[in-house]
Amino acid sequence: MAKPAAPIQELTRQYGPHLNYAPAGGWRAESTHPYSLVKTHCCFCGQQCGIQLKVRENQVVGFEPWEEFPFNRGMLCPKGVKRYLQNNHPDRLLDPLLRSEQGFRKATWDEALDFTARRLGEIQERYGKDAVAVYGGASLSTEKSYLVGKFARVALGTRHVDYNGRLCMVSAGHAYKPAFGVDRSPLPWSDIPKAQVLLIIGANIGDCAPITTDYVWRCRDNGGKLIVADPRITPISRNADLYLPVRPGTDLALLMGLLHVVLRDGLEDRQFISEHTSGFEAAAEAVQPYNPQQVAEMTGVPPQSIEKAAHWFAEAERAIALHAKGIEHQSKGTENCAAVINLCLATGNIGREGAGCAMITGQGNGQGGREHGQKCDQLPGQRSIDDPEARRHVANVWGIPVEQMPQKGLTAVEIMEAIHRGEIKGLLSLCFNPLVSLPDATFTREALEKVEFFGVIDFFLSETAQFADVVLAGSLHEEEEGLGCTAEGRVIHIRKAVDPPPNARQDCNILCDLARRLGKGRYFPYASTAEILDELREASRGGIADYYGITYDKVDRQMGVFWPCPSLDHPGTPRLMEEGRSFHPDGKCRFTLTRWRESGDPVDADFPVYLTTGRVVSQYLSGTQTRRIGELVDQYPDPRVEIHPRLAAAHEIKQDDWVTVTTRRSEVTLQAMVVKTIRPDTVFIPYHWPGERSANRLTHRTLDPHSRIPEYKVSACRLRRAASPPQWWSERGANGDRISSTPAIAIIKERR
Ligand code: SF4
Repeated sequence: MAKPAAPIQELTRQYGPHLNYAPAGGWRAESTHPYSLVKTHCCFCGQQCGIQLKVRENQVVGFEPWEEFPFNRGMLCPKGVKRYLQNNHPDRLLDPLLRSEQGFRKATWDEALDFTARRLGEIQERYGKDAVAVYGGASLSTEKSYLVGKFARVALGTRHVDYNGRLCMVSAGHAYKPAFGVDRSPLPWSDIPKAQVLLIIGANIGDCAPITTDYVWRCRDNGGKLIVADPRITPISRNADLYLPVRPGTDLALLMGLLHVVLRDGLEDRQFISEHTSGFEAAAEAVQPYNPQQVAEMTGVPPQSIEKAAHWFAEAERAIALHAKGIEHQSKGTENCAAVINLCLATGNIGREGAGCAMITGQGNGQGGREHGQKCDQLPGQRSIDDPEARRHVANVWGIPVEQMPQKGLTAVEIMEAIHRGEIKGLLSLCFNPLVSLPDATFTREALEKVEFFGVIDFFLSETAQFADVVLAGSLHEEEEGLGCTAEGRVIHIRKAVDPPPNARQDCNILCDLARRLGKGRYFPYASTAEILDELREASRGGIADYYGITYDKVDRQMGVFWPCPSLDHPGTPRLMEEGRSFHPDGKCRFTLTRWRESGDPVDADFPVYLTTGRVVSQYLSGTQTRRIGELVDQYPDPRVEIHPRLAAAHEIKQDDWVTVTTRRSEVTLQAMVVKTIRPDTVFIPYHWPGERSANRLTHRTLDPHSRIPEYKVSACRLRRAASPPQWWSERGANGDRISSTPAIAIIKERR
């Protein structure tokens, strides 16, 4: 529906982001204001740290560490410490909103839900079922993720449902599934301190998975060696025994070079390869040309370092390779992850304590959210939607004829492309902020302007929701019970700590109510989240991600249950591939053939510098939540361009100068942060901000052909020193952004 509902300045004035610095009711003496503690989990990253929320009068007012929870033992990063400030935040959406001539107006639930169901129905009647798409979110609980997939396929009958985890873990999943028959980290994090060598590639653990640093330090305390490959000397790299300064987008060459050295020097584990794997010969042949000298030229990593890393990794009795978005956010992200797996298989580092490979899931429920059907190609239990038996099983659980089960749909970026082509006309989105998080933000904005109907379920008005026709005020993490699954594959219990505000609703209720209005209520009869979980357990039963044996009570008793857990008396499965047995029917792990190719946006004479993007520790993803928390914003208020002193000098740029970064799509002007901790041919910009500050105005839409993940980590750019600050800087504060909670509370009173 065309433009934002009102001028952005006015929407920002009303709905934020405003900065909140104090809990509900302000700071109070605890001795005179009693509270209760609810054991639950942080709402942000994929570590899902245990935390105790302090609750007073149905409001979250603080936290206490949860020291018994084994993953984080009470530790939290800055986001976890401040997460309580999102509850009762002045920007919180309190009522359903409908677009009007003057912006958004408050609506009744009947009015908003009827309107949503009517518009979705009209579009489907006119253009067909697949003219509507649904976006889910990887921060949603597992039950909600399950419900999103079922809602799209049963209530709407569309094949187009995908989620923002498409921007996170799918490359890893597309590598692990063929290799092992399962998409999950094969090892519990308690294995990390037991490794003799840790190879960390493309993972800025200090900023993006802060609690994992504790596991890394424990490994080093035990005498383990640390190898880090990254274009930036990230916090964890500063303590590495060996740092490999890999050029953006060349990780595959580096990994193939490591395997080359292993095989050249006869360091492979022949017994493991012959007993537990297939496909070795083709993978070995593929790495033959990747000698250290050749790889050094491609990657910028010195040949001696390549030799040393390969020897350390292969000669250790127990080695672990950890990887994350640095190698996954590439148009060859799947091959990158496959190359990590190949290295581990060739050296026999799978299925043993202290040995293996692991993906570090970034989003809150990035693991659980990709197991039960909100992906366009997947049904619950990590089943493939193309598998006739899987379709029959799930159709049977859902009570629909199997022929009514839609086929595979489009992925997140492809949905935007289909909107551009006029094939998708209606969009319903839950907790997804694509205008900030998808690549090539101008393209996303144009798609939002084209769509005929756009409905949003969320608890804050994100930058994307400003374009909505209807906004349904949903629930926070702490307002609805459910399961999540952490990066290490541990299913955890998110406890309901408080009720939503009186006229906001739980997301599950909103979806079920919409289903009723679409005439499909009989398929969504749940009286509680527990009933959704019971159905999910049946739907996943016998699948790869088998949750049949998982209940809330069991998760509480065991402090988490690692899936698969196929029966109520099964303890769960912390380590996959024990004794080298994969999930494939023959029990073998598979090598994958990897081939080098250039990135989708190569550097050249016009755009000679690499641009890579990522996170800072104080912000989370598109910032919808964390750009509203005062201390987190104060810690890193605006994005900056990290630039090496040599590159800065070549452009006459000094610390704090304004720098315009231009790519083949757009440009942004930000302040320079001149640091020696980055390659001299590369700049880095964090991506948590919208509009003129958005790193994703610069990124491109080249997708990995297997996982369909965008190539955020490699763009070509050029730089110039800007003569003056950009417009967004001079307007800062005038649009309501960066206002503290005191004036914001006045605004919320006005809205009420
Ligand atoms: S953001 Fe991640 S690391 Fe930080 S406290 Fe939350 S779950 Fe833990």
